[in-house]
Amino acid sequence: MIHPPLPEAFKEAVQSMLGPASAKAFLDSYNDSRTYGLRLNTLKVAPESKAARKLTELFDLHEVPWCSDGYYYEEMTRPGRHPYHAAGLYYIQEPSAMSAVELLDPRPGDTVLDLAAAPGGKTTQIAAKLAGQGLLISNEIHPQRAKILAENVERLGIRNTIVTQAAPQALSARFPLAFDRIMLDAPCSGEGMFRKDPEAIAEWSPASVELCAARQWDILQDAVAMLKPGGRLAYSTCTFNRRENEETIARLLAEHSCLRLLAEKRVWPHLEQGEGHYVALLERTRTADEQKAADSHGSAQEGKRTQGRSKGRRPRQIREDGPAGRNTAAAWESFHAWAAEELPAFQSEQTASGTPLLFGEALYLLPASVSLSLSPEHLIGLKLPRAGLHLGDVRKGRFQPAHALAMALSAQEAAPRLWTLDEGSPAVTSFLHGETLEVPPDLRGWHLVAIACGDNSYPLGWGKASGGQLKNHLPKGLRLTGASSWAKL
Ligand code: SAM
Repeated sequence: MIHPPLPEAFKEAVQSMLGPASAKAFLDSYNDSRTYGLRLNTLKVAPESKAARKLTELFDLHEVPWCSDGYYYEEMTRPGRHPYHAAGLYYIQEPSAMSAVELLDPRPGDTVLDLAAAPGGKTTQIAAKLAGQGLLISNEIHPQRAKILAENVERLGIRNTIVTQAAPQALSARFPLAFDRIMLDAPCSGEGMFRKDPEAIAEWSPASVELCAARQWDILQDAVAMLKPGGRLAYSTCTFNRRENEETIARLLAEHSCLRLLAEKRVWPHLEQGEGHYVALLERTRTADEQKAADSHGSAQEGKRTQGRSKGRRPRQIREDGPAGRNTAAAWESFHAWAAEELPAFQSEQTASGTPLLFGEALYLLPASVSLSLSPEHLIGLKLPRAGLHLGDVRKGRFQPAHALAMALSAQEAAPRLWTLDEGSPAVTSFLHGETLEVPPDLRGWHLVAIACGDNSYPLGWGKASGGQLKNHLPKGLRLTGASSWAKL
């Protein structure tokens, strides 16, 4: 593979870090081709299902050793251009980047923060591990990248994630000692991107390493401030530089006696199949008093978790004391009236345990968290590209379902309002281009347009049927344009 020459200062740093023999093997690995990876979205595709087997055959998947849902794929199979990508059945992710969330090990029910989250590789991996239980706040400082993050969260059908667009200091001021798990995949000098993205070589310099280290240090202070006693923080970069990795963590441990290092892991491109990653896993230790409090709260929290999962739990009280509260209540009613008519099988525990939130016309369901009592007031002043699951918009008293809701539904929840297209059908490409589909004249009302995979169907978006036509409700920004089409395999 041809790439610009590696900077001399970079090669010298590698020599002094690895010694001559390993440095040669490492630098030679830049002549090998890069690796390609994807992670199956277990929120939609069960690991042993027929759909998983179909995807394995289609993209010639081979297991990534450090991630149970991660696979290498053959470049020529182009899964990023297949309609199954639009259906959110997997997320394209560099294999070594999958190591960080594996080490963090979030569990269902946890309250998790992903502090530097766009475009969403680690967020979608965390959400899969939460399996719909608990809360994930997924933050990205840059507005455009936060929008892409929100789109990926929606494409993968994630219900219990709030996307915020904030500086780390703004979050730490709001959420001190709040999270069980924090992922900080820090902006870095990107030495592990050199093979994948030659532009990263041009942007690299010893000065940029120092700038990155200073920024990482600042963000880490906010991350530590938000970690609960007993909570865990994974800090990762896609760079090899010790300055941004081990040295930063050593300094952090020296300055925060409440932290202890549980593990440090590297993926090296000359030793494993991956572009390279560094991860440190830290724990905030508890003081004796905090430990006592945690022990006595343990059983109470477990009780709350079980209660949160039980059927029939009422939505948290919404404020009805002002016009905003009244509007929210009316929008919530309008959603339920619509769902009773159009989605009779949709009885989500999530709608029963979350808090409805109205932004203008847009109705969201704020996920419930056992340990972080989020209220709409808690979020005032925060930019929220996605305040939980976007259920739909209420216009002139009529409810219109959101694309995010379509993507979060299972085929079973949408039945009988399911319109499934075969994988190879030209109608799939037509739908993804935003075209109207021909349907039998007796088909009426909102339908979830889905694509078949294995023995199941997976949503692509909403269509509304009347008079033999299914009107396309795929958001304009997500439609394929021009002559582009999905790869035929
Ligand atoms: N975790 C992401 C994933 O798995 O897809 C990749 C994150 S990327 C390595 C680092 C992110 O940090 C970028 O999206 C970047 O916009 C963001 N960032 C840049 N400067 C930042 C800052 N000062 N504070 C917080 N985040 C920042």
